[in-house]
This record gives sequence, C-alpha cells and structure tokens, in this order.
Amino acid sequence: MVENFSRIISEFTEVKENCPDLFIKKKEEEGTCIIRGNLSFDAVYDNKNQIQDTFSIEIEIPADYPDKLPVVKETGGRIPLSMDNHIYTSIGKFCLGANFEVQDKFKKQPTLFGFIKNLVVPFLYSFCHKQKFGEMPYGELAHGTEGIFQYYKEKFQVESDDEVIKLLGFLAFTKFRGHHDCPCGSGKRLRNCHGDILIKMKDSNFDFRKDLVIIFNL
Ligand SMILES: [Zn+2]
Repeated sequence: MVENFSRIISEFTEVKENCPDLFIKKKEEEGTCIIRGNLSFDAVYDNKNQIQDTFSIEIEIPADYPDKLPVVKETGGRIPLSMDNHIYTSIGKFCLGANFEVQDKFKKQPTLFGFIKNLVVPFLYSFCHKQKFGEMPYGELAHGTEGIFQYYKEKFQVESDDEVIKLLGFLAFTKFRGHHDCPCGSGKRLRNCHGDILIKMKDSNFDFRKDLVIIFNL
C-alpha cells in the first residue's frame, strides 16, 4: 500500500507538469487517491476538427492500481448521465471502451498521465465532437455484451458472435500451437489464420475470462 502511494505520487508529478489545474488527495481510510480539478485539452482527430475545452473531473485511483485502472467522473454537470454519452448512469463513471481495448491503450504508456492522455482526453474529445459535429469521431461502440462482440468482430475480422466466443475461449483457456486448427472454425491452421492476432493478444496477459463472464452473464 505504502509502495503504491509512492508510485502514485511520483506518477502524479508528470500529470502536474502537463495539467497544472489537477490536484491529488489521499483517501487514507480506503487506501485510494483522488485526482480532482480542471482538465484542459486541445485535440484533433484525423488532423481536423480541432477542439479545445476544459472539464471538471474526478479520477479515483484504486488501492490496487495499476492492476485495476482508475474510475473517472465529470463533476461540472456538463455531460448528462446517460449511456448515450457512455456514462454508467448509476455511478456516473465513464465507459472508456471495451476492457481489452482500455488495458491495451493503458499498457502503451502505463502511467497516470498516459491514462489521462490516451483514455480520458479521447473520451472528452469524443463527447465534444459528437455535440459539435453530430457523430463520434472513432465510431461508436455499443454497450455491454453487444459492445464486446462489436469490438472483437472488428479486432478478429469475423462476422459472427459464435466465432468471437470460440476465439475468446481460446485466448482464455488454450495454449498456442501454430500447427493446430484455428479455433474460429475456418478449417485452416492457426498460423495461417488468426495466429498473429491471437499471439499478440495472448502476450498482453489480459484475462479474457472477464469478457466471457460478461457475455455469458455469469
Ligand atoms: Zn481463424
């Protein structure tokens, strides 16, 4: 716990350098830290549609960070609490994307500043983009189970829920052998089918059981 606090505090230095209006506070009882304040950004998508804005936010860093990632909320009352805005209405938490996608983005720059830059800012930018231009910049992901299927269909380049389940099941439970048949059911060898993407995804050490649990409502 103490070790975790010092990691968080040292990572926060980088946050402060880039976002001077954010402040950190320890919540001793729960072993968590809260970052609060105003986050300003200036972002573009596809070299166009530049948006500059500032949001009041709250980032709760769990005691087991970075195994578990922070929870983000907007505190200025600008984003209506609605799944249409990708907010879990019961707790006001941002839905930053499919689990694997969120972890994958975090791993590329695994610090609090990386989390803000690569996950929180794109979320806020998308919200502003939709308000201003009527659509999400990176394409809209559905929620819950549907969102998981949609995300993996694109990732695996497959059409059916059934293929997604087979490939996720493989990622969760099976050892990789290139000469075995691909779990998607194409009849090809793994190495000639989904081998490359599956190896990459297995290397991420993500627990794919998490998504199967959601899909099967376990
Ligand atoms: Zn395949």
